[in-house]
Amino acid sequence: PVRIGVLALQGDVREHLAVLTALGAEAVPVRRPEELAGVDGLVLPGGESTTMTKLAVRTGLLGPLREAVRGGLPAYGTCAGLVLLAERLLDAPPGQPTLGALDVTVRRNAFGRQAESFESRIELAGVPGGPLSAVFIRAPWVEEAGPDVEVLGRVVGGPADGRIVAVRQGDVVATSFHPELTGDTRVHALFVDVVRQAAAVGRAVAVPSGAG
Ligand code: GLN
Repeated sequence: PVRIGVLALQGDVREHLAVLTALGAEAVPVRRPEELAGVDGLVLPGGESTTMTKLAVRTGLLGPLREAVRGGLPAYGTCAGLVLLAERLLDAPPGQPTLGALDVTVRRNAFGRQAESFESRIELAGVPGGPLSAVFIRAPWVEEAGPDVEVLGRVVGGPADGRIVAVRQGDVVATSFHPELTGDTRVHALFVDVVRQAAAVGRAVAVPSGAG
């Protein structure tokens, strides 16, 4: 099976590990740089991005994380994970570093106080079976996406109508919401497929031609 790490500095790590395991991946927590080396993909959980970033700096993980995801390691971020993956942030403490793996501008806590936490139905490109129930908790949205970013989903209706809440750029996927909290495994299944395909290509390249 593919081995998928979950960044385990803070946030809803256990929920992601459980979904990935249920989908047949080998899911492992990642807290130290050495633990990054053996993974085929990485999930960045929901939680508090400022805290995660501080811990990543303190543990020496930020640099290796950046190198890994910018170097092509498939990644999936939910909520705070989307903030971590973005190149540009709005409403973040000045100088909050990110991994810069998605050519997007992300606004933190974008939905405002009156909408601290809510549930909505969102249709996602590439996810068959109808709209999924999306849980937003002090969620960010994508304010602007670069030309190479595929918009997978937007809010429908309400004051945030049309806001981008799911994106993909190559092997990097991110959602403003938390599929790991709803029991709907379809977004994780999409990501596990991305990881499997990337791992298969990696292995094919590593096998010398004519070797069987
Ligand atoms: N507001 C949080 C942040 O900016 C994200 C919240 C979440 O992950 N549920 O990090």
